[in-house]
Amino acid sequence: MNRMSDVEGLEVIDLWVKVGDKLILKGVNLKLPKGEFHALVGPNGAGKSTLAMTIAGHPAYKVVRGDILLDGESIKDLDPEERAKRGLAVLFQHPPELEGVRVAELFEKLREMYGGEKLEDLLKLVGLPGDIAFRYVNVGFSGGERKRFDLARIIAMKPKIVIMDEPDSGVDMESVKRIAEGIKKLLDMGAGVLVITHYRNILKYITPKMVHVMIDGRIVKSGGPELLEIIEAKGFSGVVA
Ligand code: ADP
Ligand code: MG
Repeated sequence: MNRMSDVEGLEVIDLWVKVGDKLILKGVNLKLPKGEFHALVGPNGAGKSTLAMTIAGHPAYKVVRGDILLDGESIKDLDPEERAKRGLAVLFQHPPELEGVRVAELFEKLREMYGGEKLEDLLKLVGLPGDIAFRYVNVGFSGGERKRFDLARIIAMKPKIVIMDEPDSGVDMESVKRIAEGIKKLLDMGAGVLVITHYRNILKYITPKMVHVMIDGRIVKSGGPELLEIIEAKGFSGVVA
């Protein structure tokens, strides 16, 4: 495949996306280099989750214009598994239950495929008890357990780029802290991490290098963490005033 850019990491270029007949993303531009931590914020319905689903390769999200590059190569037409193999990991807002698949079995597969850390160590890192290994994936897990577990799954895949859709909503403070630790671990491993959040929760424990503000399907502003102060004082529309 031809390299279209020299950026090591993720590049979203003039991305326009439809779900059904509805145009949701209207020209999104975003760069996430490896090793950097960025935040994507914006009001409900702005299109943040749509961006995460489109980058992951969910078939319901149709790219009508633009491109998505990973290490300079287009991944726009690849299926989700191929994107994951190339180092893209997405932590969903609502991780699904896998009835019949035990945690230990899933991690054995991941270790075969990616050669990542041992399940025992990963569970310790995210603060989950060892006996969770014998349970079915996500079945009966609390909100915080699901997100911590999904984070352990992602670390096991040794990804280059990680997108997390609201890892800090609907979870307790202890989980938020653990998730922040997990993000630091991913950064130490050299990954670029983009966290979608509309709470400042997680950003209390780890400061983003860049903040991107999405309103109505576009990134209207990208800047340093000082943007968070402006949003706090004046709301999302305050950053473009
Ligand atoms: P955010 O994550 O920023 O809150 P979303 O990406 O979830 O925003 O939603 C953006 C817009 O797209 C909303 O108006 C939402 O109703 C619409 N949308 C998202 N997913 C679908 C879908 N599967 N079918 C129809 N509309 C959708
Ligand atoms: Mg969302």
